Amino acid sequence: MYNVTLIPGDGIGPEIAAITKKIIDATKVKINWEEVNAGIDVYEKTGELVPNNVFESIEKNKIALKGPITTPIGKGFRSINVQLRKKYDLYSNVREVKSFEGIKSRYENIDMVIFRENTEGLYIGKENKIDEETVEAIKVITKKGSTRIVKAAFEYAKKNNKKVVTVAHKANILKFADGLFLNCAREVAKDYPEIELKEVIIDNMCMQMVINPNQFEVIVTMNLYGDILSDLAAGLIGGLGMAPGANIGEDIAIFEAVHGSAPDIAGKNLANPTALLLSGISMLRYLGENKRADIILTALKETFKEGKVLTKDLGGNATTTEFGDYLVDKI
Ligand code: NAD
Repeated sequence: MYNVTLIPGDGIGPEIAAITKKIIDATKVKINWEEVNAGIDVYEKTGELVPNNVFESIEKNKIALKGPITTPIGKGFRSINVQLRKKYDLYSNVREVKSFEGIKSRYENIDMVIFRENTEGLYIGKENKIDEETVEAIKVITKKGSTRIVKAAFEYAKKNNKKVVTVAHKANILKFADGLFLNCAREVAKDYPEIELKEVIIDNMCMQMVINPNQFEVIVTMNLYGDILSDLAAGLIGGLGMAPGANIGEDIAIFEAVHGSAPDIAGKNLANPTALLLSGISMLRYLGENKRADIILTALKETFKEGKVLTKDLGGNATTTEFGDYLVDKI
């Protein structure tokens, strides 16, 4: 029996979390879901954005599946997502970008993974108001933080027989900050002589990903660049509804979709649960449940290939629950 913390989140979170849980349970994996919640809905009821029981549950179970949580803009709230990543030192944000047959997109056979540094960079939240007309935002890059994320990317490449790791940076301008990240990448690469390190400047990287995404296998980059590149990459495979993610540290892992709470479609039973479900598949693999992960993946592949039951973002007219129940029937 596995104990897993389930955080449904807010916006479309509860809708996609419920269906994801139902599909995972249909594989008969023995998961004891401990459901706790954080976010706007909880804040309105309790005055707390993240109640203590969320932290307690994560610390006890060490593994969580999490729906998206809204970050109110400019109200003095810090993003819960950023807080969780920082608190548990979940330094490795892994975002798989894979095409599915049957899902319309400009490209086919995309198969890349983005490793985004998750605890440093511009996300440390240090912004200073210098005067009424000037602010500064501080970007922190460390040797320790850079080395461990690049190592995670190379280890993944080695395990999965990938030949190239691409580091995306702007060291030509940010000579110290991005320069340190790049140097760490070069140092780590020396330990993996069978894998090539390709260096690409971030602006060129965006263009290369749009004109020829199939050239990339594993990408490693700093926090903000990784955030932007992964949304760009999601656009290559059918949109945000298709992009899963994982936040992994030394002993705690939180699996969540790349997308946010999608307030424009929340409560309408329209959201595509695939991104959270794919995150759930990664979670099953993390638990060593590869067979069950494959069962869900096969059901998803079949469903996309048939193209009969698809959510609106993928050009279909199925609701979240219809899509989910169709998958449950295939398991
Ligand atoms: P978003 O990802 O919520 O939505 C962007 C667009 O993609 C919207 O049009 C939305 O309808 C669509 N979309 C997203 N997920 C979808 C899905 N599963 N199915 C179908 N369509 C989908 O981005 P946003 O609007 O910039 O952010 C909304 C809120 O979410 C913000 O408060 C933001 O801070 C928060 N956010 C949270 C997380 C997280 O919890 N990890 C991640 C990103 C953003």
